[in-house]
Amino acid sequence: MKQIKNVIKTSLIFAMAISLSACDSAKSKANTKSLEAMDTYMTIRSFGKNGELANEKAAQRIKEIENLISTTRAESEVSRLNNAGGQTLQVSDDTLRLVKFTKQGAEKSGGAFNPVLYPVTKAWGFTTKNYTVPSAAAIADLLTKTDYSKITIDEKEKTVQVPADMKFDFGAVGKGFTGDEVLSIFKSMGIKSALLDLGGNVQVLGKKVDGSPWVIGLKNPWGGEVPVAVYLDDCAMITSGGYERYFTADDGKSYIHIIDGNTGYPVENELVSATIVTKSGLYGDYLSTTLFVLGKDKAIEFWRQNKDFDFILMTEDQSLIYTKGLEGRISVFAQFNNVEVVR
Ligand code: AMP
Ligand code: MG
Repeated sequence: MKQIKNVIKTSLIFAMAISLSACDSAKSKANTKSLEAMDTYMTIRSFGKNGELANEKAAQRIKEIENLISTTRAESEVSRLNNAGGQTLQVSDDTLRLVKFTKQGAEKSGGAFNPVLYPVTKAWGFTTKNYTVPSAAAIADLLTKTDYSKITIDEKEKTVQVPADMKFDFGAVGKGFTGDEVLSIFKSMGIKSALLDLGGNVQVLGKKVDGSPWVIGLKNPWGGEVPVAVYLDDCAMITSGGYERYFTADDGKSYIHIIDGNTGYPVENELVSATIVTKSGLYGDYLSTTLFVLGKDKAIEFWRQNKDFDFILMTEDQSLIYTKGLEGRISVFAQFNNVEVVR
């Protein structure tokens, strides 16, 4: 443990470096590819035979998904849906799956998570970086366009229909979905060990080539050293945090990019980050955003009702809260005011 403590420095990237150095000495070859996609810097690393080709296929798939779900590309499928003016549209299997998953996810979260918040995030300027604080009346008006129960899906016909002014934004789940797709390509090509860092969404396939688990550090929301590391195999570890994107308005207040689906306002609660550890990237990405919006108490309640994932929450007053499934798989390096294990 001490040795790890000395090696882990400041961020996930360093945690990845540990994995790499262990693998450098192993016989199996590390194949690394970096690319920019989905507004973020991604690194994919696969080990062994076929790795280089698998990375190329993965990169192609990442671009393909980006071209489907980008809200800023006029020709993307999501843009077509968002501009359909109430018409029923036939969509790809990928989009159909995302629409179905996120609609159910919104229902399950009681509206905290909402895949059709685009008009609201746009009004705050998060889509263009022209940040403003909209008036309460404007937000109330925009919220009337975010009733996800009005999304109609026909799975047989593969069609989606929404009211004319309703617009999708899969920003909260796109990278998790993409991670699952990449790992499925890797598996189909016989890759047994891989590490994806899709802009902070980490997903690992199998163990490291030396048979030990991956050691992945969490970003420190306050800056500085890695506060917590988790030992993982065949898992996704996905974090939502206000510190990822925010702006400070003229009133001196900071507003973050994660919006409470029920109020239309950027989340303001005791959480600084919500991390999910679970098998599926899509589910983990959905949950990280959802638990962040719900806040500590409701997040714990949500976990108690589902229990098919683990979480790590960090709060404003520097408390660390994690679920019992992580006991024995987590190392805490930072001095927290309080550490709580949820059972
Ligand atoms: P993440 O970093 O995974 O939590 O995703 C944050 C992104 O999801 C934001 O940049 C928005 O594009 C979108 N988003 C913000 N608030 C919500 C919400 N309540 N439900 C669904 N998507 C959201
Ligand atoms: Mg998310």
